[in-house]
Amino acid sequence: MDLVELAPSVYACLQEEKGLGTSNSGLISTGGGLVVDTFWDLPHTRELMAQYARVWAAPARRVVNTHRNGDHCWGNQLFPDSEIIGHRLCAEQFMRESPQMMQALRGAADSADPATAHIARLLADWDFSGIELRPPTTLVDERLDLDLDGVRVELLWVGPAHTAGDLLVHLPRERVVFTGDVLFRLCTPIGWEGTQAQWCRALDTIVALDPAVVVPGHGPLCGLEGPREMKAYLEYVQAESARAFAEGLAPLEAAKRIDPGPYARWTEPERMLFNVERAYRELRGEPWDAPIDVAALFQGMYQLREAWQSRRTC
Ligand SMILES: [Zn+2]
Repeated sequence: MDLVELAPSVYACLQEEKGLGTSNSGLISTGGGLVVDTFWDLPHTRELMAQYARVWAAPARRVVNTHRNGDHCWGNQLFPDSEIIGHRLCAEQFMRESPQMMQALRGAADSADPATAHIARLLADWDFSGIELRPPTTLVDERLDLDLDGVRVELLWVGPAHTAGDLLVHLPRERVVFTGDVLFRLCTPIGWEGTQAQWCRALDTIVALDPAVVVPGHGPLCGLEGPREMKAYLEYVQAESARAFAEGLAPLEAAKRIDPGPYARWTEPERMLFNVERAYRELRGEPWDAPIDVAALFQGMYQLREAWQSRRTC
């Protein structure tokens, strides 16, 4: 992982994008220290803390979780004396994912089911043992403003977009935005509870803040081209999904038919299915928090990947 200085007292820690779970984090090294997101397991979070210790020796007084996905908050327990800050809906839904379940999945590399074995292989670099979930206790509704010895930090709620409790971390004077998973850069987005329409508005909000540096939840640093390209992807998938929906195609059939075009170069392009399924949910008029069958979607993503591969080798 790389520690990058973005402005005086402002850092990003970037993990090399390897697909599932390789998220980014941030540090503001003043006013007691504030960490934006921890990592998916304890070993990776310890490595993150070692990176931050190079520029800020004391434990950070505050940790902000941009949202509830484990790859942004399962290292919280390594900050036992820190104030954990997150959106109210992030805290409410914090227990939706289970480290024990992920650890069991990671151990299933010999599964007879090829999709399960594939996911287990993707999880090989992670170790979910020993994780105790520590949800935010300082809760944000619309926004929260902090002053860290002169560095202004705005926590802005933009959900339900990628998840219900999505927060942006905006530093107006330094012109930096930490987006959490509202933005994936050069990797295919995957969304949970929320709507594509609100996700596009959230991306517009990032652009309107006019940052010089955008730190995505996954992928390399970028400028405004990052949120603009991802919005174009969501709009493209939405339009193609609407056509397929009108023809009565099932989501997997629709995803197989949609040409990923330039987005095929983004990591995990098979997440297209997740985005088609989301589009269908909205087209069926279902609420933004309608339950989704995650296991079935991961099975479908595996099938989509196989279908693309066999098309390429034909
Ligand atoms: Zn993430």
